[in-house]
Amino acid sequence: MGKAFNVADSFLIRNPLGQPGVVQEVEAGVRPVDLLPTGYYADNEVRCSFCTQRQAHRRGYFAVLPDGALALCGNCCAIKIAGKETVGAIDRRRNLAASGLKRKEAADRLTAGLPAVMEALEDGPLHAEATIRKTLQKLHDVFGGSGYVPDAMISHGAGGLKSVLKAVTNDNFSEKDVPALMQKKAKAISLIKSGVEMLPERRRLISYPAIGEFLKETHARNGWVIKWNGQTIEYRKVPDAEPRTIFIEPLHVDIRRVKAILSGM
Ligand SMILES: [Zn+2]
Repeated sequence: MGKAFNVADSFLIRNPLGQPGVVQEVEAGVRPVDLLPTGYYADNEVRCSFCTQRQAHRRGYFAVLPDGALALCGNCCAIKIAGKETVGAIDRRRNLAASGLKRKEAADRLTAGLPAVMEALEDGPLHAEATIRKTLQKLHDVFGGSGYVPDAMISHGAGGLKSVLKAVTNDNFSEKDVPALMQKKAKAISLIKSGVEMLPERRRLISYPAIGEFLKETHARNGWVIKWNGQTIEYRKVPDAEPRTIFIEPLHVDIRRVKAILSGM
């Protein structure tokens, strides 16, 4: 029996005529001796090598000729060669490979571009957003005041993308999950785009003048002694108390790269 290619492979054969050992024509009178355990699912219609009507088909079988060469074979001829049971087993293997391929194609469609977005976010925007939020939260915790801490839009969006990337690796993932995941991805991307757009403006909330303004109000309200040099806030709740400090992490925000990547999404 000819083993021109690895019959144990579970991948889907979509170009049966292009497989090694496959002949285009079978001489009249030559009868096949067996079928390969792996069938094919041709992208384009092919024709059976054996019946007079040369049955056109896409889901077919490799018939093994006496000299070991392979010929394409449709369903009815296949049953004559190897019986219903064998043909049924080949069909099940082919269907499994076909659904595996569909899953892979669906997963690729869903996740296209996402790793690049995640990488660009991790390269700065996620850290910038977290730092801005952490800093504002700290300022409000210590000094009080009515200022707000902006939402973690980029972080929420990145979480959405991560869950999409994870979902396609799940054993149960199938094509029917695609619409919901597409929707989740679109929401996440839109959240990230807005968050990135707003990042420079939010960065200004912890700029030197903005913090200076905030501290001036606090000072006026609480009567604390406060010094702010652009890096460290030193404050005393009463004039003779030990000074405490808050370090403000310097933050450079550059959103050009991530915007360029997001614009293609
Ligand atoms: Zn046939």
